[in-house]
Amino acid sequence: MPSPALLSVDLNALARNFHTLEAVTGAPVHPVVKADAYGLGAEACATRLMTEGARTFFVARADEGLALRAALGDAPVIYVLDGCHDGAAGVLKAANLRPVLNQPRQMQAWSQVGGGACGIQIDTGLNRLGFRPEDAPEPFEGLDLIMSHLACADEPNQPMNRRQRDAFEIAAARYPGATRSLANSGGCFLGRDYSFDAVRPGVCLYGGGPQGRPDVRIAAVATLTAEVLQVRDVRAEESIGYSRGFVADRPVRAAVVAAGYADGVMRAYGQGGAAWVSGEIRPLLGRVSMDVCTLDVTGLDVAVGDRVELFGANRHLDEAAAAAGTISYELLTAISDRVPRAY
Ligand SMILES: *Cc1c(COP(=O)(O)O)cnc(C)c1O
Repeated sequence: MPSPALLSVDLNALARNFHTLEAVTGAPVHPVVKADAYGLGAEACATRLMTEGARTFFVARADEGLALRAALGDAPVIYVLDGCHDGAAGVLKAANLRPVLNQPRQMQAWSQVGGGACGIQIDTGLNRLGFRPEDAPEPFEGLDLIMSHLACADEPNQPMNRRQRDAFEIAAARYPGATRSLANSGGCFLGRDYSFDAVRPGVCLYGGGPQGRPDVRIAAVATLTAEVLQVRDVRAEESIGYSRGFVADRPVRAAVVAAGYADGVMRAYGQGGAAWVSGEIRPLLGRVSMDVCTLDVTGLDVAVGDRVELFGANRHLDEAAAAAGTISYELLTAISDRVPRAY
């Protein structure tokens, strides 16, 4: 039975993006597979990336680390970006996960369970997680990663990038021997002086451009398609969907498509959203509802059972995101569990 809505994941394209990032940065690529690999499936993605040579992964939460450890076995190094919350240190340690420590109470929690391999995060300006450089701990046994995170890596001309890079280099010099990592996807494209010893891309592996728009170097990985459930002729002056979200000023042919906000196709798509169908990009008409949305297929040869593409090889993820007033990251991670993944 074909699935009404389906997220197809091209693991060969994922592998190509991995090798592209290696070539661009000249550094080992440590994939970020948090949030179930941005919704694409962490187990499938990380397994393939291991085959391509990845040896170290990043997740956000302890639970994500536990699931990944169970899926991948003992070989890969897995860092948890959240660090270790109160009570989680023992769990991380037992599963051979490495916290990225970001404040003194996490240092204490980790040492209370005996310490061991871990990282620290230095905050160089994002003001999110991490120690200010002047508050960073003395070098200690087990510390093998020093990292920071860029605030504006998707804006190459933003002077803050260089300031963060230089602050990171100075802070990291206190910890000779630890792996230094600064660059996320955007950072991978700022120049090799941002690569340091390892890079941590996420979205570019999964097909998002490093600057929030299509980039020819990055291949599409995820394709969201949905089935046409009904095709109807709507007369002039009739409306479509809840709240008369679209009122026809001429006769239109509309395809009702099996993708709604319960699948992760946000209501925001209703304004300016579009999908690829039968060789053309066509606008959505009216509101997105829970299970369906409606597409203008006037003049096209579209039948029940045809599939339309919300994003993918024909409708770029970044363009789809921009049309919905958001970014590729949110579009991908919003795709719900109701939508099967096919590899
Ligand atoms: C999410 C995240 C990344 C990956 O970011 P992308 O922009 O998707 O490449 C890297 N480092 C940290 C600390 C993150 O939180």
